[in-house]
Amino acid sequence: MTVYHNDLPVNRNFDFIVCGGGTAGGVVAARLAANPDVQVLLLEAGGDERVEVVTDSRLWMKNIGGERDWQFRSQPCAALNGRTPPLPMGKVLGGGSSTNGLIWARGHRSDFDNWAEATGDDGWNYASVLQAYQRIERWQGPADPQRRGTDGPFEINLPTDPNPVAIALAEAAQAYGIERVEDLNGAAMEGEGASGIPNVAVTGGSQRVSVASAYLRPAIDQPNLTVVLGAMVEQVILEDRKAVGVRIHSDGQHWNAYASLEVVLSLGAINTPKLLMVSGIGPSTQLAAHDIECVQHLPGIGQNFQDHILVAGCVWEYQVPQAPRNNSAEFTFFWKSAAHLPAPDLQPVLEECAFGSEVTRAQYALPADPSLAWTLAPGLVRPHSRGQLLLGGRSMSEPLRIEANFLSDERDVTALLRAIEICRDLGNSSTLAPFVKRELMPGPLKGEALVRFLRDAAGTYFHQTCTAKMGRDEMSVVDGQLKVYGIDRLRIADGSVMPDITTGNTMAPCVMIGERAAQMLIETHW
Ligand SMILES: Cc1cc2nc3c(=O)[nH]c(=O)nc-3n(C[C@H](O)[C@H](O)[C@H](O)COP(=O)(O)OP(=O)(O)OC[C@H]3O[C@@H](n4cnc5c(N)ncnc54)[C@H](O)[C@@H]3O)c2cc1C
Repeated sequence: MTVYHNDLPVNRNFDFIVCGGGTAGGVVAARLAANPDVQVLLLEAGGDERVEVVTDSRLWMKNIGGERDWQFRSQPCAALNGRTPPLPMGKVLGGGSSTNGLIWARGHRSDFDNWAEATGDDGWNYASVLQAYQRIERWQGPADPQRRGTDGPFEINLPTDPNPVAIALAEAAQAYGIERVEDLNGAAMEGEGASGIPNVAVTGGSQRVSVASAYLRPAIDQPNLTVVLGAMVEQVILEDRKAVGVRIHSDGQHWNAYASLEVVLSLGAINTPKLLMVSGIGPSTQLAAHDIECVQHLPGIGQNFQDHILVAGCVWEYQVPQAPRNNSAEFTFFWKSAAHLPAPDLQPVLEECAFGSEVTRAQYALPADPSLAWTLAPGLVRPHSRGQLLLGGRSMSEPLRIEANFLSDERDVTALLRAIEICRDLGNSSTLAPFVKRELMPGPLKGEALVRFLRDAAGTYFHQTCTAKMGRDEMSVVDGQLKVYGIDRLRIADGSVMPDITTGNTMAPCVMIGERAAQMLIETHW
């Protein structure tokens, strides 16, 4: 356990307590602590992020399944031939922003306009969200002052000297009719689809930019910010339907800390709903099943689980081996699986290795050496499948039952079959010929054989969200100001508040949610 500045703040009173020092929570804590007159406590279950597997952007995959991963796993998914896909999430200061694949994707215009519609709050529409993004970004790519920020704390770059297979894929996509753009976060995110080299949270060629490095480390010496690592929040302390503090477990000790203004939950889309439920806020029948007194019935908590679906592989063997570069994922595109859709629903991504699932890796004898093969992984970023989280016990230490339900909606199967077709067309095109000795997976499968492959190969895109959604219907958990319905002084700021998942990787939207939450708290309290 590490405590910055103070002794363990047992029974101490703060103005704000932020639970979870991850992507959104780290932003909230740092922005609040910019005011020297307020005392902020940030509680993070994971440890120090200043280790090579976090700071070196090329090593991110090594964190999956390790000590910096919560190692969540879904219950068997019927539509994945009964497989139980892992659901990695970062457990370290910076959360997912410290362990993820470093792609910076802000989301499509329509995502945010839909959020504004769901909440009745124009603060979430595209125009408002653009302003938050501009405050966040220190964008180093082609100038776009209307959309991109250049003075914020979070440096975003285009990868240095990308892998030539990424460049060839961008050329192949252009030839296919998917416009190649320099900046996938510019006008492209307002249109029908585009391809190119993604923005990455990398500086100096191979140094990760995370919320920990960009927001928290610069603030960590401030006396008004207390950060405790290795601190597991295990309960929200409620008095008269008001959040007054939290109970924490660290180093075998249970202790309390108190907040005179607000408690903010930023534990990510699995642990935020779990903490609410063990604290007595959630679906009353589930709470009753575990003998938890129901303080506030909110049936939407743990429901509406959404994740993008990534298919492990269309894989090709290189003619000449190529070592992975930068973040090992230097090409992506957004495209529609069917022309009538209102926005792109597909986002395949290059993985600079032979990317297989636990089933297909063995079945197709994929090489372990990443320099021998490359993958164009079909991805679905507007899924219809929905999952749920069910309590497995009455405390944070007992596992949740996570039902991801990937591919449970047949429309997702149809969209991903189209994605496989497009990826194979690109990979087998003449532009890629210099990088292809042979196609390793899946090959020209058709009909039922192709569907079986899809079910054996599909899984998480690592973007678990939407389990405590904001909105106005009876399944909503927070309002547009991120306040938990029925409970005072309690807000949520993380990926769980998304009403629907964004079109693209979810780190950038979570940083933006953190920025907006901080702004709301500042407007409320000073
Ligand atoms: C392997 C991987 C690759 C990914 N690749 C990309 C990518 O390339 N681009 C992209 O945009 N997104 C990517 N993502 C997704 C992205 O990182 C997440 O969506 C985002 O970081 C989630 O932010 P959050 O604030 O909701 O939660 P998190 O960042 O997960 O923060 C939650 C924090 O709360 C802490 N916590 C949880 N429970 C407790 C508790 N009880 N007490 C105290 N602390 C607790 C956690 O340890 C964590 O630090 C990836 C994710 C993973 C795991």
